[in-house]
Amino acid sequence: MDLHEYQGKELFQRVGLRVPGGRIAHTPEDAERAAAELGGGRVVVKAQVLTGGRGKAGGVKVADGPQAARQEAAAILGMDIRGYMVHQVLVEEATPIARELYAAVVLDRGGKQTLAMLSAMGGMEVEKIALMDPRAMACVGVDPLFGWSDFHARRLAFDAGLGELAQPLGDVFARLYRIFTESEATLCEVNPLVVAEDGGLLVLDAKVSVDNNSLFRHPDIAAMRDVHSADPHEQMAFDRSLTYVKLDGEVGVLGNGAGLVMSTLDVVANAGGRPANFLDVGGGAKAEEIVAALEVITADPKVRSILFNIFGGITRCDEVARGVLAAVGQMGIALPIVVRLDGTNEHEGRAMLAAAGVPNIYVATTMPEAAHRAVDLAAATGA
Ligand code: GDP
Ligand code: MN
Repeated sequence: MDLHEYQGKELFQRVGLRVPGGRIAHTPEDAERAAAELGGGRVVVKAQVLTGGRGKAGGVKVADGPQAARQEAAAILGMDIRGYMVHQVLVEEATPIARELYAAVVLDRGGKQTLAMLSAMGGMEVEKIALMDPRAMACVGVDPLFGWSDFHARRLAFDAGLGELAQPLGDVFARLYRIFTESEATLCEVNPLVVAEDGGLLVLDAKVSVDNNSLFRHPDIAAMRDVHSADPHEQMAFDRSLTYVKLDGEVGVLGNGAGLVMSTLDVVANAGGRPANFLDVGGGAKAEEIVAALEVITADPKVRSILFNIFGGITRCDEVARGVLAAVGQMGIALPIVVRLDGTNEHEGRAMLAAAGVPNIYVATTMPEAAHRAVDLAAATGA
């Protein structure tokens, strides 16, 4: 789950990182009041959307006082930044900047470690820094069992050509590493981390992603989820406790077990089609669970056919068949549905589907057969 800048800064403040004073505003009037509360001086008005490059898109503006803040907020609220609508702005005390740096702590899945990164070329996008000169980004791997140590910071600072800032940078990274670990984040990025005029280091932007699978341990962070910014289909699935990932194709896919669903996506692609989603119903075979899954899949207007791929182990195929029939009857789905049942009680399950005689339910035995059928039916429905 990605956090908004102001939420990331809230986490950073908990571990004592220096963040400019700020307030969130939902209307131009809110923004004016916020600027007044911050002392009435110069402020920065910043769009809060879950995407980067806000500065370049005109979503970050300096305002000379409450009146100007109101005007800037009026221009930014409602703006579309890379497909994200701005619903709120952060009004923050403006900071005179001497220098902009880049600092991040990220999960390095391949290396099975944590990676700390530092560059003197802050303000720019990380991809651009790496492109201009890979050596401009200093990186140090941190063994998660060993944890953070001062020498990691010295290594980073000197490699990035920022040796004179080794001490304050060490302090910033120790705190950044702590919040990264404590909140079970996969990314804590500060770009820019600025050298203020008093020489101190200040967090001016925050990009934080937290592992979805750890959110149950962090109710305070879970509550930060922005329902307005989430993909509506993924939000719907989240509300129904389903493991769902939206994709771009026409064949809606659901199966039991992540591995089976992953391979179903491949088989659909092999059959010349494109999957519309990943959806794992787990061991669920009850009608309510299948209804919940079908509601999410059919909410996507691009879906032209649906492929059920069930391997019966503990899950019994006759129960799945009963669930499918109940769900389809209850929801009145007109899209073609291909059901492949294999494993425990497959014969009973297939016989039940055949006996029901629902015209848009097609029964298949093997995975390739089912995938070809679903792809053909999607093409026919789409035409
Ligand atoms: P991003 O474009 O989405 O990454 O948004 P940032 O929060 O990084 O803001 C973009 C740029 O605006 C920064 O790199 C800074 O140069 C500038 N900026 C942001 N906040 C302040 C501030 O408080 N004072 C000043 N002078 N510039 C700021
Ligand atoms: Mn930034």
